Amino acid sequence: MRCTVCKNDEVKDSITTYFVSLKECYVIIENVPCKKCSQCGEEFFSVHVMERIDEIIDSIRNIAGKIFVLEYKSVA
Ligand SMILES: [Zn+2]
Repeated sequence: MRCTVCKNDEVKDSITTYFVSLKECYVIIENVPCKKCSQCGEEFFSVHVMERIDEIIDSIRNIAGKIFVLEYKSVA
């Protein structure tokens, strides 16, 4: 695949920390697999990973709490 930001052809497998701020809470998911551009450092998630993240967020949305820190592998 190609970086959508700088058009560099080289993107490498990497892991990152996904952070999202919702209305009710903050969610931090550690060690999420991604592709990272070797030139500009932009990170990309596969459709599969994005779907899993959506499911994870949906599943914790109704749990009382303000900040969640999750390990990707333990919930995906
Ligand atoms: Zn790039």
